[in-house]
Amino acid sequence: MAKLTVKDLDLEGKKVLVRVDYNVPLSKNNEIENDSRIQASLPTLDYILDQGAAAILFSHLGRVKTEEDKEGRSLQPVATYLEELGYDIQFIDQTRGDELEAAAKNLQAGQLLLVENTRFEDIDGKKESKNDSELAEYWSQLGDVFINDAFGTTHREHASNVGLSQQADQAALGLLVAEEFETISQSISQPAQPFVVVLGGAKVSDKLPVIKNLIEQADQLIIGGGMAYTFLKAQGQTIGQSLLEEDLLDDAKALLEKYGDKIILPTDHVVAPSLDQVDQAEVCESIPDSMMGVDIGPGSIEKFSAIIQDAQTIIWNGPMGVFEVDEFAKGTRAIAQAIGDNPHAQSIVGGGDSVAAVESLGYADAFSHISTGGGAMLELLAGTDLPALIAIDDLN
Ligand code: AMP
Repeated sequence: MAKLTVKDLDLEGKKVLVRVDYNVPLSKNNEIENDSRIQASLPTLDYILDQGAAAILFSHLGRVKTEEDKEGRSLQPVATYLEELGYDIQFIDQTRGDELEAAAKNLQAGQLLLVENTRFEDIDGKKESKNDSELAEYWSQLGDVFINDAFGTTHREHASNVGLSQQADQAALGLLVAEEFETISQSISQPAQPFVVVLGGAKVSDKLPVIKNLIEQADQLIIGGGMAYTFLKAQGQTIGQSLLEEDLLDDAKALLEKYGDKIILPTDHVVAPSLDQVDQAEVCESIPDSMMGVDIGPGSIEKFSAIIQDAQTIIWNGPMGVFEVDEFAKGTRAIAQAIGDNPHAQSIVGGGDSVAAVESLGYADAFSHISTGGGAMLELLAGTDLPALIAIDDLN
């Protein structure tokens, strides 16, 4: 069923409540270090404003559990950024109260109002993160209709997404969420073949549902990063001090037995005694007892890149090594490059480190789709219903 989007609603003269994803990285001086998520929200905002409507924007930024956590997590820098782009925007440093209500009441068509970080409501009983219905109802009364354009939180059931969908008279998806949903869903329901899935990152447990959901359709499933070592151990290889999820060894074994020809693992590794001992890093095929695998080796890069080169559909989530340490980021960068260099494939990437690798290499334009949501993308790939999308389906 086609999802209802912002384009299906009559917005003229309305105050549109919009859940955006402004969970952006901020420097110590409160400067925005990566504006991709803000840029990704602009088509929906422009559309709403062009319809002769006003928009009241809600977003979380980081995790907020205590008063101290508020420090450095205000959305004020985002308001300043949007103002510099030329938007007529007002920022209210509260999540409720007289000032917010007056600002919403006086808002005129063509104007934006940004509400303070929705997770400031988590200090007193996790009202945002537990989808408190009184809070959602309060927010819903500030405007007329609700648009959810925060793909990165669609797998969560919060007051500012699911709650607002439940409370609003009308609700629909924003252009970003609709595009992310369509692109990712279509790429796995009808993938042009060869269909190659590349998974990395720390934990097998996070990605096991994705593996189980996609392994039948995928022609090849490349596994790198920390999660590869549980599979290598399941094959009987020595993995030294590398990451291991012992309780998933049986799952890994079962997958290798059934799909061994499709699952592609690293054949060599960059190893080090610890993450701090960069100067003692070396490349090996068999990991010594005292060492841990921190990146895929050059042979694995070559092998993975050759598979990627021939693919028609590529989905990638998760780094191939400890990407935060520059010396151990080679594998991740090489995979970003290999995918970016394949001009024929539908290529989709999600997850903070993988997207950072793509952007830092200047390969963003070479990808068909860069997802703004790592966790939400994984849930979609795992075939799980996203609660924030279901909430809107239920309403319509
Ligand atoms: P995820 O959030 O599951 O995509 O995992 C990302 C994290 O995995 C990053 O912080 C990486 O440093 C980490 N990671 C990737 N490869 C390894 C590895 N070989 N050993 C330890 N951590 C790793």
